[in-house]
Amino acid sequence: MDIHEYQAKEILTGFGVKTPRGGLAYSPEQAAYRAHEIGGEKWVVKAQIHSGARGKAGGIKLCSDEHAVFDAANEMFGKRLVTNQSGPGGKVVYRVYVEEAANIEKEFYLGLVLDRTTERIMVVASKAGGMEVEEIVRSQPASIIRAVIDPAVGLTEFQAREIAFGLDLNPSQVQQAVKIINGCYRAFRDLDATMVEINPLIVTEEGTLIALDAKMSFDDNALFRRPEIAELRDKSQEDPRETQAADRGLAYVGLEGNIGCIVNGAGLAMATMDMIKLAGGSPANFLDIGGGASPERVAKAFRLVRSDENVQAILVNIFAGINRCDWVAEGIVQALENNPVGIPVVVRLSGTHVEEGRKILAQSGLPIIRAATLSEAAERAVYAWKQNNEHDVKLAASS
Ligand code: GDP
Ligand code: MN
Repeated sequence: MDIHEYQAKEILTGFGVKTPRGGLAYSPEQAAYRAHEIGGEKWVVKAQIHSGARGKAGGIKLCSDEHAVFDAANEMFGKRLVTNQSGPGGKVVYRVYVEEAANIEKEFYLGLVLDRTTERIMVVASKAGGMEVEEIVRSQPASIIRAVIDPAVGLTEFQAREIAFGLDLNPSQVQQAVKIINGCYRAFRDLDATMVEINPLIVTEEGTLIALDAKMSFDDNALFRRPEIAELRDKSQEDPRETQAADRGLAYVGLEGNIGCIVNGAGLAMATMDMIKLAGGSPANFLDIGGGASPERVAKAFRLVRSDENVQAILVNIFAGINRCDWVAEGIVQALENNPVGIPVVVRLSGTHVEEGRKILAQSGLPIIRAATLSEAAERAVYAWKQNNEHDVKLAASS
């Protein structure tokens, strides 16, 4: 789960990371009032969306009076910002953050990520921060500083200092940097984050180190034990299909292929996708309906899979342990009776109450293609998809 910049800054401040003074606004009037409250003569108005690279998309505005703050906010509210990280659909601005502007002397990059190769938290830093960091990674990869943290030891004082030295800071700034790196690390570890990014981390003209931007992501599977983080979720910033799925307890990931999958259990879902590939097809999604799936949940899974226009056949593969084949079968019948899909549906049921399940499917009178094993199911789904596709091609050619 991602959160907004202002939320990340509030969290990091609690871990001793210095950030500019700021206030959140839901309207241009409130934004101008925030500038007034903060005081000073220069402010930055920052669009709060779940994406970086806002600067280049018009989501960051420097202002030197309260009217300019009002105008900048007015311009941003309700706008769909398309950045090079937001995807083509962009993200709509419903909140802006107003901050006292900093006088930047230097911009650095500081990031903490979960490194899958070493299975550890890795600190990444670069002397070249700000909006050009992607370019630096490409053109001067050797200039990137990396430090892997041993989970048994944690981030050592030595490591933090070595990173700070790598940024060519003077002794008093090294102290400040160590505090910031340490704060980011503790926030990452204590809150089950998957990413903390400060870009840019700046040195001001006054010689102070400040986190000018902040981004944090969290492990979805740990949110149950971090209610204070789960609360920060902003659904307006999420892909509606994945939000819908998550809200219904379904794990859905969209893929490129044509065969929609409805499966219980992540392992079985992956095995099903492999079998589809082996049979010469390609899966359109990964959808795990979980254990104990009720008919309502199965019906919702069908609607979700069908909402992808690329889907030309559906394969339902259930191995019922906790689950019950008769419930799943009822779900399938309900879904197809209320909302015929118009494409082939292949069903393979196995496990608890399988005979009842098969009976329900057989008696429904629906054109369901049944299969006894996983490989048979995959072959039939791919065959059905190819038939369906050829049929469409012929129709298109004859019209
Ligand atoms: P991003 O584009 O979404 O990553 O947003 P950032 O918060 O990183 O801002 C983008 C850029 O705007 C920064 O790299 C800075 O160069 C500039 N910027 C942001 N805040 C300030 C500020 O307070 N003062 C000045 N002078 N520039 C700022
Ligand atoms: Mn940034």
